Amino acid sequence: MASEFIPFNRPYTTGKEQGYIQDALESLHLSGDGRFTKLCHQWLEQRTGCAKALLTHSCTSALDLAAILLDLRSGDEVIMPSFTFVSTANAFVLRGAIPVFVDIREDTLNLDERQIEAAITSRTRAIAPVHYAGVGCEMDPIVAIAKRHNLRIVEDAAQGIMANYKGKPLGAIGDLGSFSFHETKNIMSGEGGALLVNDPTLGLRAEIIREKGTDRGRFFRGEVDKYTWQDVGSSLLPSDPTAAFLWAQLEDAEHITSERLAIWERYHAMLAPLEQRGLLRRPVVPGHCTHNGHLYYVLLPQGTNRDAVLGKLWEAEISAVFHYVPLHSSPAGRRFGRTHGDLAHTTDLSERLIRLPFWIGLQETQQQRICETLGAILGR
Ligand SMILES: *Cc1c(COP(=O)(O)O)cnc(C)c1O
Repeated sequence: MASEFIPFNRPYTTGKEQGYIQDALESLHLSGDGRFTKLCHQWLEQRTGCAKALLTHSCTSALDLAAILLDLRSGDEVIMPSFTFVSTANAFVLRGAIPVFVDIREDTLNLDERQIEAAITSRTRAIAPVHYAGVGCEMDPIVAIAKRHNLRIVEDAAQGIMANYKGKPLGAIGDLGSFSFHETKNIMSGEGGALLVNDPTLGLRAEIIREKGTDRGRFFRGEVDKYTWQDVGSSLLPSDPTAAFLWAQLEDAEHITSERLAIWERYHAMLAPLEQRGLLRRPVVPGHCTHNGHLYYVLLPQGTNRDAVLGKLWEAEISAVFHYVPLHSSPAGRRFGRTHGDLAHTTDLSERLIRLPFWIGLQETQQQRICETLGAILGR
């Protein structure tokens, strides 16, 4: 019997995007920092408690902005996981810095805070924790290490909007944090991102770098009588119609998150019996972390042929996918970075991970079919 295809992702829209984009068009303010950008900034600042939020074109450009702000020099080192998206590393490599790849924890797949200190050298300038699947890294020890060694923290919270670590919003704990509003993220505007500036002393300079190195922001606030070239910079701000799209999603952030958490919980309950039978491992969320239902992954037992499992899921019209190829094993990662330790968990866990279809609108019956199919494949 032919069954219907279940895609991996389907972007969710609230229904209000078009109206807000129309408003932005009619306001004739089409470039950046218009009314909708300001609404998004206010929302992000209120929601996270950051000193200043700045919309960018993507999380990638927010990380680029963060790396420029830190004034890194050639040969400076930034500690980060290898199990992450390329942008975490690229932002710093573009400044001439060296990514130092440290292993991940076996439970959350997040940067292993217990291995950070041994990776620190006289060239280390920053730590870039990545909150995988919207589950917080162990930020208390990471913040303590950064204080002890006078290092900056740049949180890659691309997947972390609306999630907390010990009650603190992800992205708002380190000196700087970044969100992604890419189509594949919980809250999105097609492409989009934001930098959260938590250290208030970096706020004005962040604004200047984002506006081509000018003090245009201060000019529009009436703080200076003309705007001029002040610093290095680039054009990192999105147009206001893009912010209008995002505003529709931010207004609906509670609803979007609760819908996603319901889907996550259903998977978690349905897959418990398979975990009990030793056929897979489910995600681990520490009690002090509130996640946001960004994605649902399972870890296959060691020695399982993952490609074969994914192939059989595809044959059953189910689009499940793997995730990161560890950066330290990639051509550019080997060229630009260095490793600390053997990265055993990174290699092992990344090879055993599959992500299941996840989008608002995914039906319980579809989730049942996915879990039953997976059980049948793994139980053979
Ligand atoms: C999605 C993602 C990024 C990149 O986000 P863009 O908005 O597409 O630039 C960076 N880091 C992580 C961990 C991500 O998941």
